[in-house]
Amino acid sequence: MTHSLYTKFILGYLVFGLLGFVIIATFSSKVTYRYLVRSEAESLYDEANLLAAAYSDIYQGKRTDISAAEPRLEAVTVYLDAQAWVLDSHGTVVAETPSGNRIGSTVTGFDPTAGGNRSYLVGRFFGMFNENMLSVFAPITGNFNTYGYVVLHRSIAQVVKSRDRILNIVYMTAAVIFFLSLIILLVFTKTVYFPLKKITAGAKEYAGGNLDYTIKVDTNDEMGYLADTLNYMSGELNKLEDYQKSFIANVSHDFRSPLTSIKGYLEAILDGTIPPELQEKYLHILISETERLNKLTEGMLTLNSLDSQGFLNRSNFDINRVIKDTAEMFEGACNARNIVLDLTFSDDVEMVYADLGRIQQVLYNLIDNAIKFSHDDSVIYIQCLQQYEKIFVSVKDTGIGIPKESVKKIWDRFYKTDISRGRDKKGTGLGLAIVKEIIQAHGENIDVVSTPGVGSEFIFTLPRATAQ
Ligand code: ADP
Repeated sequence: MTHSLYTKFILGYLVFGLLGFVIIATFSSKVTYRYLVRSEAESLYDEANLLAAAYSDIYQGKRTDISAAEPRLEAVTVYLDAQAWVLDSHGTVVAETPSGNRIGSTVTGFDPTAGGNRSYLVGRFFGMFNENMLSVFAPITGNFNTYGYVVLHRSIAQVVKSRDRILNIVYMTAAVIFFLSLIILLVFTKTVYFPLKKITAGAKEYAGGNLDYTIKVDTNDEMGYLADTLNYMSGELNKLEDYQKSFIANVSHDFRSPLTSIKGYLEAILDGTIPPELQEKYLHILISETERLNKLTEGMLTLNSLDSQGFLNRSNFDINRVIKDTAEMFEGACNARNIVLDLTFSDDVEMVYADLGRIQQVLYNLIDNAIKFSHDDSVIYIQCLQQYEKIFVSVKDTGIGIPKESVKKIWDRFYKTDISRGRDKKGTGLGLAIVKEIIQAHGENIDVVSTPGVGSEFIFTLPRATAQ
């Protein structure tokens, strides 16, 4: 593509140059020639008229000697580099400068009207010359008679010479313009062609799957902007590719470990490695592994549904009520470990505008985590405060806390801290990813403050209910 673009540009440039010279050689040459012939004819005609006026006096008998005007005739011919003849009314040469042998000879077929509406003729002047001449004639008149003609001839070769001199200047100017326009070609090459070549090479690399490739165009113009955009795009695609790879690796890993243990225990039961009296214990483990698989599948389905747009089903509801209901679901788990859920509300009723089902899921996941990572005999504080147009909900535990290096990662899908891997075997690492997606879909924020060994506090915002 780029190759032909550049070739086209060079070809265009050469055609432009060639056409320029062809036009000068044809059109300009013709126009200049015509112009020179006309202007020379005009100046010769003026002189011829002056001479004709002088000869008119002689012919009218004011002077007797026809040669009286000859010095003037000579001066004019020297000055104009021309030949001058005086013809009588029959076309016979009566005077000639520079003097030759034409005096007395007659111009056969002489016709003063041969030039039509022009006062000059270009040619051999009725066969009197061997080369083309520019001939101008002015009638010698007086007393309503035409006594004869003053004819001035100038070699047309001189006109051609003048034309060539002018054309040479034009050719030179055109050549200079042609070479100057090379600068445009060079600028185009540097600013458009080379960057475009690099961008095309980059696009080819991306198409071939090499998304690590960086296009090196640093100019501050459209080309630089295009290269930056493509680099950004490849970076994002690269990240997406990495993300997909790790997602599949995580999913496979999280599905494989429960499946492996289920298979192992079932085989052990079948071949009698596990004696019948111990089978009940292992069947419970099998149920717990199946539950984990179920949780994983549900979590992934939830995230998938969150990815698709427009899933929120918002309404006005009392968030305090939802917090109380969700907390109640954990009564059994809390009693077993002597954990107390301490609920504090700034108002009895706190109306918010959100998706009730999804917010319940957020609360469920946060309280579930708080209980999982709390010590026995501890307190979990759940607060709901109103500030301006926002409602702040906080779930705070005094449990194991989150290591500093993990705080940012806990929102990633499948992420679990090393401690929690050992402690909570059922965890999928999807809970907080779901929580974050739900809160962000509401256009709200969620954050965590955690100190290892002291506890963690998750705080998220919700919009207050609208007036209606
Ligand atoms: P999981 O299903 O493993 O709980 P989550 O996405 O809910 O997945 O949590 C991701 C990780 O974040 C957990 O494995 C745990 O390491 C850490 N985490 C979440 N909540 C808490 C908490 N309240 N205290 C300490 N660590 C937590």
